[in-house]
Amino acid sequence: MKSARAVPPGRFPMVCLTAAVVLTPVVFAWLIRNRERPDQPAEIALAVIVSVSLLVSWALVLRSIFFWRSQLQDSYQRLESRDHQRRTAIEASEIKFRTLFDSSRDAIMILTPEEGFIDGNPAAIELFGCKDEAEFTSCAPVDLSPPFQPDGSDSTIKAQQMMAKAMEQGSNFFEWLHRRVDGTQFYATVLLTRVELSGRPTLQATVRDITEQKQAAQALESAKLAAEVANQAKSDFLANMSHEIRTPMNAIIGMTELVLDTELDRTQRDYLTLVDESADSLLIIINDILDFSKIEAGKLHLEEIPFELRERIGDRMKSLGLRAHARNLELAWQIAPDTPDALVGDPIRLGQIILNLVGNAIKFTEQGEVVMRVDCESRTKHEVVLHFSIRDTGVGIPAEKLSTIFDAFTQADTSTTRQYGGTGLGLAITSRLVALMHGRVWAESEVGQGSSFHFTARFKLATESLPATIPVRPTLPSATRLLIVDDNATNRQILEDITRAWGMQPVSVESAPVAIDTLREADQAGDRIPLVLIDADMPEVDGLELTDRIRQDETVTDPAVILLTSGTQPEYLKRCEELKVAAHLMKPVKHSELLSAIEKSLGGSIAGKDDADSQSADAFIDLPSLQILLVEDGLVNQKLATVMLEKHGHSVVVADNGQQALDELQAGRFDVVLMDVEMPEMDGLEATAAIRAKERDTDQHVPIIAMTAHAMKGDRAQCLQAGMDDYVSKPVRSKTLFETIARVLGIANSEAMNDRNP
Ligand code: ADP
Repeated sequence: MKSARAVPPGRFPMVCLTAAVVLTPVVFAWLIRNRERPDQPAEIALAVIVSVSLLVSWALVLRSIFFWRSQLQDSYQRLESRDHQRRTAIEASEIKFRTLFDSSRDAIMILTPEEGFIDGNPAAIELFGCKDEAEFTSCAPVDLSPPFQPDGSDSTIKAQQMMAKAMEQGSNFFEWLHRRVDGTQFYATVLLTRVELSGRPTLQATVRDITEQKQAAQALESAKLAAEVANQAKSDFLANMSHEIRTPMNAIIGMTELVLDTELDRTQRDYLTLVDESADSLLIIINDILDFSKIEAGKLHLEEIPFELRERIGDRMKSLGLRAHARNLELAWQIAPDTPDALVGDPIRLGQIILNLVGNAIKFTEQGEVVMRVDCESRTKHEVVLHFSIRDTGVGIPAEKLSTIFDAFTQADTSTTRQYGGTGLGLAITSRLVALMHGRVWAESEVGQGSSFHFTARFKLATESLPATIPVRPTLPSATRLLIVDDNATNRQILEDITRAWGMQPVSVESAPVAIDTLREADQAGDRIPLVLIDADMPEVDGLELTDRIRQDETVTDPAVILLTSGTQPEYLKRCEELKVAAHLMKPVKHSELLSAIEKSLGGSIAGKDDADSQSADAFIDLPSLQILLVEDGLVNQKLATVMLEKHGHSVVVADNGQQALDELQAGRFDVVLMDVEMPEMDGLEATAAIRAKERDTDQHVPIIAMTAHAMKGDRAQCLQAGMDDYVSKPVRSKTLFETIARVLGIANSEAMNDRNP
C-alpha cells in the first residue's frame, strides 16, 4: 500500500497570513470608526467580505501550522530511531572488539609512558603469569623485564626510548627480553602502536612469545655451524688428498721428463711421451675431482686461449689410443674438412670432455670400435658451433637410464656385481663443462648395440692466425697416389678423407692380397703407387707380412711404406728396419705426424718442424749458473729436483727442513731458495718468516720460491703472504721452474712466459 504523504501547503498560506496580519487591524480600525454610521450598506458588505477573507486566511494559516507541526514530529521520530540504531551498532562493535581483544592469543595491552599499563587482555595476563587484570595493571613495564636486555642496555631506559619512538613514528617493532612475575624470562617480539583513546595518545602493545622460534633459530645456527665445520673438514681433506696425490705425481712426471731428456730410441720416446701425456691427463682429472665442489658452486671459469683443434684432439686421442689398444679396440677420429682449425676457447677442458666420453666408450666396449667425429654445426663471422659425436659398439645403456646418467654419482649399472669401475662423476662434469661452452650433451643407445654420445660447443674463431702445425697447403707433390690398406672400413674412410684433403689420390683396400694386386696393376698401367699406408694389425696377413710380400714381389716396384701400429715391440722394430719401413706411427694418428711421415717418406719435410726424435722434452731457459738451496724433505723429490737443476749447470745444496735451511743460509750465499711447504721440525712458511725476519734492516733479500704439492685455492696467497717471492705447484715441470726462477731473478723475457700453475 502506498502511504499517503502530506502535501506541503506552499506559498499561498504565507500570502494569506501576510494579508491577514496587515488587513485585520485595518478592517477593525475602519469598523470602529464607522460604528455610528450603520446606514452605509456597501461599506458594511465590504467589511463582511474582508472579515470572511480574514477568517479564511486564518484558517489556512492554522492548517499550515498543523502541517509543519506533524512534519517536525516525524523528523524527530526518525532522528530518534537513527540514534537508537547508532547506539546499537556501537554496542555491537564494542562487544566485537572486546571479544577480539579478550580472545587474541597475542598478549595485547594498553599503556602510556606515564601511567604504565591501563589494560591487558587475558593472553597478556597469562603470558606474564599474573592472577588477574588487577595484578597485571598494578605492574609497571619495568617489573615485566629483567634489569638488562641481552645487548647489555638498561631495560628501563631502553623501554622509555622504544615507547618514545613509537609515539613519535606511530609504531615500533622490536625484540624484547621479558620477565614473568615469577621471575622466569622469555624472548618476545613487541609491536607498539600509537592510538587515541578518550582523546589522549596511548600505546597499544602486542607481545608475542618467540621462545620456540628462538630455539629453532639457535638449532639452525648450530646446524649451520656444524655444516661449516664439516665443509671445512672436507676442504682440509681435499687439500690433504691433493697434496698426497701430487707428491707421487711429481716423481712420475719429473722422472719421465728427465728420462725424455736423455738419448732414447724412437719407441722409448713414444712410450715415455705417452706416460708423460697420460700423467698430465691424470693430473687434470685429479684437479677436476678436487674442484668438483667448485663446479657445483658455479665458480669454474673457462679459459679463452687460441688453439689448433686438430692438433689438440690428436694429442688427446693419442693418449686414449693406449687404452683402446690394450682392449683390442680400434680407436679412430675424423674431422669434417670444412671445420676451422684455429679456435679460441679452453682446449684443456675440451680435452677433458673428450677424455671422459671416449674413455667411457672404451671402458664399456668389449669388441669393435670407438669413433669420434667432429662436424661444423654452424658458423658465423666470429664463432663456430662444433658437433662432436662419439660412437661405440659396446654394451649400450637401457632407455630408462639414459636420462639419469648425466647426474652426479649416477651409473647405469648399480648392481654389486657391476663389471666396470668408475666414480659416476665423469658425465656430470662433462655436462657442466659443455653447458659452460654454451652447448648441450645427449646420448642415444641400444642395449647390446652400442652408444652414441653427442655434444656441441661454441668457440670463437681465432682472429690472428696461429703458427700452424699443419700447413694449410702441404708441400706434397700434387696428385700423389697413395694406397691405404686397413681391414677396418672406418679407418680406411678417415685416412682417405685426410689425405684427399691434402691433394693426394688415395685408393683403399681391406686386405693384403687385394693390396698386392692393386700395386701390381698400377705398375703395369704405368701409374706406380709410390706410398703405401698399412695397418699393422690386420687378420690373416698383418702389416709386416704384407710389407715383406711387397718387398719380395718382383712385379711390384718398391713403394715407401708407413705402418700404423698400436704397439712397438723390439723385434717388431728390428723387422721394420729390415723391411725398410719408412715410418711407423702409433694409432690413432695425428694429422700433423701423418703429414710429416708422408713428406719424409716422399723425401720432403715440414718447414719449421723438427723431427720428433730430436726434440727435447723441455724448452731450456738460458740462465746463468746459479747457487740454489733446495729445502725439501722427500728423498725422491730431492733427487728429482737436484738432477733437474744440475743438468742445467746449477749447484744445489739440499736442506731437509726449515731449520737446516736457516743454518745453510747462515753459512753460505745462495741465488735462490726452492722451499717445500710441508716439512718436519720447521715448515716452509715458518722458515720463510724467519729468513725474512733476519733480513729486516739489511739490504739483503734472497728470492724464495715455494715448490709445493699444496695446490688448493689460497695456498699460493698463503706462501706469498709468508714472504715468498713466487710459487710453483708440484708436479713441477722443469720449464715452469726455470721460467719462475728467471722471473724472480728479473731475467729478461720472463714476463712473456705463461705459467699455468693453479
Ligand atoms: P663412471 O665413472 O661410472 O664411468 P660416468 O659419469 O662417466 O661415470 O658415467 C655414468 C654411467 O653412464 C656409467 O657408469 C655407465 O653406466 C654409463 N655410461 C657412460 N658412457 C657409457 C657408454 N659409452 N656405454 C655404456 N654405458 C655408458
